[in-house]
Amino acid sequence: MKKRTEKPIYVTEPFLPPLEEFTPYLEKIWESKWLTNNGPYHQQLEQALCEHLGVNHLALFVNGTAALITALQTLQITGEVITTPYSFVATAHSLLWNNIKPVFVDIDPVTMNLDPNHIESAITSQTTAILPVHCYGNPCNVDRIQQIAAKHKLKVIYDGAHAFDVKYRGESLLVHGDLSVLSFHATKVFNTFEGGAIICPDAKTKQRVDYLKNFGFADEVTIVAAGINGKMNELQAAFGLLQLNHIGHAIRSRKKIDCRYREALSGVSGITCMAEPGVTVRNYAYFPVLVGADYPLTREELYQKLKGQGIYSRRYFYPLISNMPMYSELASANVGNLPKANSVAESVLCLPIFPALENSEQQRIIDVIWNPE
Ligand SMILES: *Cc1c(COP(=O)(O)O)cnc(C)c1O
Repeated sequence: MKKRTEKPIYVTEPFLPPLEEFTPYLEKIWESKWLTNNGPYHQQLEQALCEHLGVNHLALFVNGTAALITALQTLQITGEVITTPYSFVATAHSLLWNNIKPVFVDIDPVTMNLDPNHIESAITSQTTAILPVHCYGNPCNVDRIQQIAAKHKLKVIYDGAHAFDVKYRGESLLVHGDLSVLSFHATKVFNTFEGGAIICPDAKTKQRVDYLKNFGFADEVTIVAAGINGKMNELQAAFGLLQLNHIGHAIRSRKKIDCRYREALSGVSGITCMAEPGVTVRNYAYFPVLVGADYPLTREELYQKLKGQGIYSRRYFYPLISNMPMYSELASANVGNLPKANSVAESVLCLPIFPALENSEQQRIIDVIWNPE
């Protein structure tokens, strides 16, 4: 057996700026003793992100899941919500935490997003909202979704956890819908260790979000809602400000890796790279490929083969949310209702992509895919 000496390659590696750049932020926090509760770094990061993303109002959160749960609370969503089964589990879990029934609708196998053609037939008298995901940062069909929502008087909340810095038709993708939610988890393009945000269309909505993320406190003695503790602390916010200085470089590095994969894998029969969306400035957050019947290995075999070589690709998103035990009994979770989502979940593999991935490491991955035997 060949002895392996190369270091393992994970699907992603958090982007960490040089440690010494973080020290001045820490010193300020120690000096002020202001650790959380809308501190100076929290205020600065909200402002900086609004400017960077080109949005008017943004409320920071301790993580993306708390932001999703609070977004549903903000718009007082109840009953049934139409959503995609092809996402990270937090999308649907945020509905269960609000006692809302998820109604799954199939995806478009090219964009891997909620297929608008199936939305209307899933609407019932109980439906109050649509919760789509800009999967891998691919823009949803925001025009069609908006049309359907307007016609049926539904709210739209976008799970934009993958869509940081994605521009669509010249503006932030996150301006669409009634609210959009971001995640700044360590594995995301922009991270604050853990973190998240809600993009709000106006100051009044942000005010309500701010009450809800702080136990419902409007002032010291006035509690206006049964809010949660969803506040981002000063360490997270400071790290976000530092990270923002480097985000352009980080995304450019990702873009190079994306281009190299596309070029190198274009001749491999049975491997399909995700189609690049039009009129979109991407963030290159993920590199999903579909492993087809023409490829000599199944998706599982390729996943294991790579793993054996110290390359940890991920089956995002498998299993499908609708096949998890807390959802699988729902009528809409039936495999027959979601053929495309089931088929993509069975054949997708996300390859390593992150700013520090070296050429030689990427070549190792490409070589295994070309010569898996
Ligand atoms: C990461 C992610 C979330 C959850 O965000 P956390 O910050 O980890 O709570 C929600 N939805 C999607 C699609 C995600 O990828």
